[in-house]
Amino acid sequence: MVGDVPLDVLASKGWHPVPLAARPGAPYTSVVTSDLLTDEHRLLRDTVLEFARTEFGPIADEIDRTDTFPSDLFRRLGQLGILGVTVPSEYGGAGADLLSGVLAIEQLARVSGSIALSYGAHANLCVNNLYINGTDEQRQRYLPGLCSGELVGALAITEPEAGSDALGLRTKAVVDGDDYVLNGTKTFITNGSIADVIVLYARTDPDREKRGITAFIVERDFPGISVSKTFDKFGHRGSPTAELLLEECRVPRANVLGKIDHGVSVMMQGLDIERVFLAGEPLGIAEEALALSVEYAKQRKQFGQPIGSFQLIQAKLADMYTQVEAARALVYQTAVRAEQGRVRKEAAAAILFSAEMATRVALDAMQIHGGYGYMNELPLGRLVRDAKLLEIGAGTSEIRRLIIGEELLK
Ligand SMILES: Cc1cc2nc3c(=O)[nH]c(=O)nc-3n(C[C@H](O)[C@H](O)[C@H](O)COP(=O)(O)OP(=O)(O)OC[C@H]3O[C@@H](n4cnc5c(N)ncnc54)[C@H](O)[C@@H]3O)c2cc1C
Repeated sequence: MVGDVPLDVLASKGWHPVPLAARPGAPYTSVVTSDLLTDEHRLLRDTVLEFARTEFGPIADEIDRTDTFPSDLFRRLGQLGILGVTVPSEYGGAGADLLSGVLAIEQLARVSGSIALSYGAHANLCVNNLYINGTDEQRQRYLPGLCSGELVGALAITEPEAGSDALGLRTKAVVDGDDYVLNGTKTFITNGSIADVIVLYARTDPDREKRGITAFIVERDFPGISVSKTFDKFGHRGSPTAELLLEECRVPRANVLGKIDHGVSVMMQGLDIERVFLAGEPLGIAEEALALSVEYAKQRKQFGQPIGSFQLIQAKLADMYTQVEAARALVYQTAVRAEQGRVRKEAAAAILFSAEMATRVALDAMQIHGGYGYMNELPLGRLVRDAKLLEIGAGTSEIRRLIIGEELLK
């Protein structure tokens, strides 16, 4: 009996629970890891982490300090096989699921938030969007180069006057012969100054206030597009963020992505998936902050004993661990559900929780490291600065709460 329910009622409904010990992957350290990850997921996770530690680990602080993007190393993520993680192999991708993308960005973020952010903008915001909405011709033309690392991708929605109000964008696209002519400014574009291919949104029907938007595939070499500014940022230094100017920029009609005037549905669907994908980044940052803190708590001695023996430190570690695992459960689960249907509310919740959790956990990690944590010799400051962005980019925490509220009350 379970309470008043006889167990055979469940059995008669076809419920045959698998004993925990018989599940693959046991013994486990994370409930979700055991339940959701296949052997392929684990292989990808461990390989990406090893690659990131070996290749980016030694220069992660330098990338941050010098605000320099390691282009050659980034391209090597193509050799690793993750630049087109969710794109089928016929276009040069890995043909994996969204959870694999989340695992990849999570591992990169453990080592360098800057690389993780540029990776997310490339592999998901640009490449996955282009795959989902592109014609076969567009896929053949752009995806192999983007998946191999020969080309770098970006996504441009935000404008100086249209941030949270993304549908208020003003960049205009007007038909002229076989081209559209684009005029406007895009800002805060990740990879903007290094991107070869940009998925960019412009208004094609000025009379339809929140509609009449179209997505375009814009190449860096098209006439009329230039980088008007690069930003000096608080965190994610090394991941280039740029303002792009479109002055009579000619884009062939063949480069319309999806249907003309229907860019809003392309954008909204893309933003949901983007939120799930990018939610892996704060998860990785927080995991690293926790791992560093556990090690430090074992080694740092005060009052003649490791600080880890103090219950106030243990409580902090316990809370950090609990929050990381809660975020992992939500993010991984949402990545799986996103393959099955619309996840607007779930995606907003996943990145909302994961991002705010990462800032709290990174700050706690700094506290556990005391004065040394505040010094730039250790990466705690970088983790705090990197974590904070995830509460702003891809829709702010406020906008995520609005989405969740709106969906709940529908
Ligand atoms: C490092 C970085 C990288 C980025 N990368 C990209 C990229 O690759 N491509 C791209 O297109 N964009 C990118 N962005 C832009 C990002 O998506 C926007 O910054 C974000 O959507 C917020 O817009 P905003 O900065 O204009 O802030 P605003 O919209 O001006 O918001 C200011 C404040 O007002 C709040 N607010 C706004 N509206 C409401 C409301 N209705 N209710 C309550 N509060 C509200 C916000 O939450 C925020 O706290 C990036 C931004 C950063 C900082």
